[in-house]
Amino acid sequence: MDETASPTEHEHTRTGLSVDALHRALLDNLFYVVGRFPAVATQQDYYRALAFTVRDRLLHRWLRTVQTYKAERSRTVCYLSAEYLPGPQLGHNLLALGISDNAGEAVRRAGLELEDLIEAEAEPGLGNGGLGRLAACYLDSLATLQLPAIGYGLRYEYGIFRQRIDEGWQVEVADSWLRDGNPWELRRPHIAFEIRLGGHTERYLDAHGHSRVRWVGGELIRGVAYDTPIPGYGVYNSNLLRLWAAEATESFDFGSFNAGDYQGAMRRKIRSETVSRVLYPNDEPETGKRLRLLQGYLLVSCSLQDMLRIHLGSGDSLDRFHQRFVVQLNDTHPAIAVAELMRLLLDEHGMRWDPAWELTRRTFAYTNHTLLPEALEKWPLPLFEETLPRHLEIIFDINQCFLDEVRIRFPHDDALATRLSLIDETGPRYVRMAHLACVGSFSINGVARLHTGLLTDTVLRDFHALWPERFNNKTNGVSPRRFSNLSNPGLCALLSRVAGPGWAADAERLRLLEPYAHQPEIYPEWRRIKLERKRALARYIAAQTGVAVDPESMFDVQVKRIHEYKRQHLNVLHIIALYSRIKMDPALDPVPRTFVFGGKAAPGYAMAKLIIKLIHSVGEVVNRDPAVRDRLRVVFVPDFNVKVAQRIYPAADLSEQISLAGKEASGTGNMKFALNGALTIGTLDGANVEIREEVGPENFFLFGLTSAEVDALKRSGYCPYGCYRENPLLREAIDLLAEGLFSHGDRDLFRPLVDHLLHRDDYMLLADFQSYVDCQDRVDRAFRDADSWTRMSMLNVARMGRFSSDRVVQEYCRDIWRLEPVTIRP
Ligand SMILES: *Cc1c(COP(=O)(O)O)cnc(C)c1O
Repeated sequence: MDETASPTEHEHTRTGLSVDALHRALLDNLFYVVGRFPAVATQQDYYRALAFTVRDRLLHRWLRTVQTYKAERSRTVCYLSAEYLPGPQLGHNLLALGISDNAGEAVRRAGLELEDLIEAEAEPGLGNGGLGRLAACYLDSLATLQLPAIGYGLRYEYGIFRQRIDEGWQVEVADSWLRDGNPWELRRPHIAFEIRLGGHTERYLDAHGHSRVRWVGGELIRGVAYDTPIPGYGVYNSNLLRLWAAEATESFDFGSFNAGDYQGAMRRKIRSETVSRVLYPNDEPETGKRLRLLQGYLLVSCSLQDMLRIHLGSGDSLDRFHQRFVVQLNDTHPAIAVAELMRLLLDEHGMRWDPAWELTRRTFAYTNHTLLPEALEKWPLPLFEETLPRHLEIIFDINQCFLDEVRIRFPHDDALATRLSLIDETGPRYVRMAHLACVGSFSINGVARLHTGLLTDTVLRDFHALWPERFNNKTNGVSPRRFSNLSNPGLCALLSRVAGPGWAADAERLRLLEPYAHQPEIYPEWRRIKLERKRALARYIAAQTGVAVDPESMFDVQVKRIHEYKRQHLNVLHIIALYSRIKMDPALDPVPRTFVFGGKAAPGYAMAKLIIKLIHSVGEVVNRDPAVRDRLRVVFVPDFNVKVAQRIYPAADLSEQISLAGKEASGTGNMKFALNGALTIGTLDGANVEIREEVGPENFFLFGLTSAEVDALKRSGYCPYGCYRENPLLREAIDLLAEGLFSHGDRDLFRPLVDHLLHRDDYMLLADFQSYVDCQDRVDRAFRDADSWTRMSMLNVARMGRFSSDRVVQEYCRDIWRLEPVTIRP
């Protein structure tokens, strides 16, 4: 293939970027790839034809990039993540290639609208929420910054369930996102690796008389690579997202097949393929699910074998592996990589322990994403041993060396060694994945300043005492391309005018907006842009839920996974209190508000599902009550995902970031809202702290306890019932709920929620209630002054540059990965 495009080739049907070439390619692909005549083609057919058209144009960039990285033996970061939530690709790739307008025109020539084709794409829901979305933002930034990177993950056949609402209850529906095919991926049958599960280990002497270990028996599964190009914005680089799908190994089936056991062979084939069948829909890991362990192992083993293949294939020696690759572990889901790399080096490549351990420790870096103790991943020892016997041996050996080192440094502290051990022996024995990640990594980072501080003070305190130099903070960020350019074109046009079009790849330039925040002439335009997004969301809400909402009302929005620590029910308590105040005092005239909720609950999380029901139940009563005179509307947008997120963030006036201080590691939704001009009402939690510092405390609505106050109150004996008893408004709100006002008189429906609040209240809603209500009153007053609100909104956008994922990736690069950009030329 000739990869240097001459001017005439530029108009080639497969590579040309002009309207004419794109139009030809669209029709060509519709017929030759999709197999349809224009007269009978559906939107879905046209979407696929356009997707293939775009993919054709990515291939040159992608192959050129791979070739260059290989030729230059570029140092590469491998991002290991069990989840990716990239969102639909078409619009994003058109933007990266800079051909959105031409493609729009080409589609129009075919009698269609680009918007409709973008809408026809099913998004890959290969993640639960923030963590997967973060991984996708980082891949975008890595490519845009021209940094050599591979994203490794799993190709779940079914992604996160789709959420339907039935009578106010969440109903989960299987997400068969691959049903219509996935035009963006390329199956790579020649890039496949075997992994072993179960079996046992044997010791033997090799040819040099060294004692070695062999892992034998059990069963083999194959992981096959599916590649998706990740083009950078406005550059020629295109990186790679490589997802592994589990398949049966032919060799394994063959014997039983010949022996006539066709059914047995089929069963094993199906069982093998089950490993990557479905994403676990829990935001936090569940202990003890063998399949989940297998998934983590499939991801890790295939990815490391692939890196070793690439490294040794380019003729480099094994002991330089860590110079070529740095591996970032996105939380502990891939932490087994530490033991797996050791196994590959020791057992497969004959390395000795010390150099292997040195190399391993210089390869991995670990990002922690949670402070919730119940969310720290651990595996029951018997399950682990039965599935990965060789890894358990290696973990024991690592632990032995590690604890010896600890005992030398802290000779008389047995309790310390017990706390640090990779094995939890306080009750039934568990393997502690976070400890494995810490011991095996040269860098350990949290995802917001507060989070990193709490990590080093609490869950990883002992590790911090041991190796303070390994700890660092990397406050999360989001991609301005997806959450501004793509989702808010009106705002983008304005930003490009005042800050120059380069702001999307250099978000610090958003500062150039700041002087305009003091020029009221521009306010009407700013408000028109917001109103236009609110109108579009109102149409979507009406279509999805049948509820009419007023785009002129304040859009007060909380969208994120449903979890008690995120406190959607605190938001609901405020709505109930406001409702009751309006009922009791008809003269009360609050700013008309539309409360928008969205988010999925883990299917096994009963309380979260009850909160979804609560939101619907309150909405049903409030939305219909004439006494409210349309001052309040409550809606729940079903099936919150990236596509829906792109509609919602730009339409928000107020962003609800109300988790109990000390619980949300960072949050990224908070950044997406502010980047789109919403003001935040929030606690001092996660990245809220830094957002508030950046935008200025006068442009942020703060309430609630600090994490230190939370701790102090917990220690002194928190009594939620006392708050209830002493606060009439709170009492009224909870009583209305308990008495069945929102459940047709049924006092049992919300009893679990009420009882929990009154007697346990783990997330201290009642302690923060009054502070929240008072703060909402300040929001109300602020919103009445439209000019002042607009100024604050503009200042939020102008000061959000720091929260671009480009800034974060540059910090990872400087402090952890030590990569150089590699420019790819056409
Ligand atoms: C950003 C995002 C999240 C994370 O939201 P938080 O408010 O940080 O919890 C979850 N899901 C989707 C689809 C997102 O885009």
